[in-house]
Amino acid sequence: MSPTYAAVIGAGPSGLYAVHALLEADPAIRIDVFEALPTPLGLLRYGVAPDHLKIKALAPSLEAALAHPRVRLAGNVRVGRDVSVETLRTHYDIVVHAFGAERSRRLGVPGEQMHGSVAAADLISWYSGKPGAAAPRLPARVRTAVVIGAGNVALDVARFLARRAEDLRATDVPSAVLSWLADAGIEDLHLVVRRSPAEVKFSSKELRELVSLPGAHTLVHGVELPEDGMVPPHLRRTVRVLRDAVTTGTPTGGLRLHFHFGTRPVEVLGNGKVERIRLAGPAGLQEFDAQLLISAIGYLGTDVPDVPMSSSSAVAAQGPRVVRDGSVSPGEYVTGWARRGATGVLATNRADGEAVAAAVIEDAGGLISRRTSSPDALLNRLRARRIVVDAEGWARIQAAEQDEGRLLGRDRVKIADPRRLLAAASAADSLTREVAS
Ligand code: NAP
Repeated sequence: MSPTYAAVIGAGPSGLYAVHALLEADPAIRIDVFEALPTPLGLLRYGVAPDHLKIKALAPSLEAALAHPRVRLAGNVRVGRDVSVETLRTHYDIVVHAFGAERSRRLGVPGEQMHGSVAAADLISWYSGKPGAAAPRLPARVRTAVVIGAGNVALDVARFLARRAEDLRATDVPSAVLSWLADAGIEDLHLVVRRSPAEVKFSSKELRELVSLPGAHTLVHGVELPEDGMVPPHLRRTVRVLRDAVTTGTPTGGLRLHFHFGTRPVEVLGNGKVERIRLAGPAGLQEFDAQLLISAIGYLGTDVPDVPMSSSSAVAAQGPRVVRDGSVSPGEYVTGWARRGATGVLATNRADGEAVAAAVIEDAGGLISRRTSSPDALLNRLRARRIVVDAEGWARIQAAEQDEGRLLGRDRVKIADPRRLLAAASAADSLTREVAS
């Protein structure tokens, strides 16, 4: 009997957890993992905060799937641009959408488009060295920065801004990022939260990491912090962390962290660049000078042509099964942020991947495959047109990043330039083929 051929779209945590689960569930399955970037690991590499080394340390076990003899990485292939979903469906028995959620929500306030107003996803892509990410429009000097949102991404961004450049030298962030941070000189960092302290989305661990940074003074504006009895049990620790951190008296020196609850941005003011922020809070309107505004208010889904969406953030599905025109689409599955919208921590993807594998096994008997051609034929066509980064190419990229780190006296430095990544992946023969940007 012919093995099942699976295409997984996305080599981030959700895709790789699905690969692990599929290999476990079907000892004969063959899997090709399509990834738009030249590098795998998705948000683990380009989203998880650079100082969250424990989470980053999950990389080797996750990417072990790519070294499996029945798995092939096809990096630098964007589904929807280089190959269509429909083509995948005619070359594979099953297709698993694991393409995450890439787009930032917009605030929708006047002035948001000005220089110095940046979506969190763009800042994170830049400081994470994501290939092809444009440098965000950041002012060179920032005395006051404002972060909008009350999720863990807002805290990741706030912690990045609050850190000293030398604290991040031990991580793999690009050198240009360290230089910017060293020069920015932030003194006041405002976190603007539209709800109350008893309704935040961020977690206590991330909050503690921020408020306990050396030299940080925490101030809370707009509300009294509630007693435990007024806070839902899952948020009590979070509010306690805040209560313990609040600075009494007038702090001098160091970085002031201002939490504004029940407050939302109304307008960004300035002459082409961010100069002042107007907020509406419990005490009415207020305004202060600021040079940088980061909106960390969640992500919307990735736009992949020919994939049915149920909302702006999630693929239309019943559980892990994709739904097209009101019916389950045979052999088509979804996992991770593409399934749930942009919520949940890394480990949530493991359960999602297992649900995909269970559904694949359950459906196998009745599956009428649409496969009419071989995965090899498709990969050969793609390779003729562009550099396709396989597991060996990825290993060469990693070696090049370690070499780069050694030159700079650091363990490893990410290469962000797609051309250099592709050159590293394909070594000498890169010059003879198209290098896509
Ligand atoms: P999130 O948890 O959904 O938080 C988004 C925040 O933005 C919410 O506080 C939301 O407020 C606020 N918001 C939305 N629209 C707004 C608007 N127009 N004006 C003002 N505020 C607005 O999303 P996220 O922070 O992007 O995180 C995504 C997922 O990744 C989460 O599940 C998160 O836990 C996870 N993550 C985990 C870690 C970690 O474990 N260390 C790190 C990063 C991300 P409302 O609550 O009022 O809607």
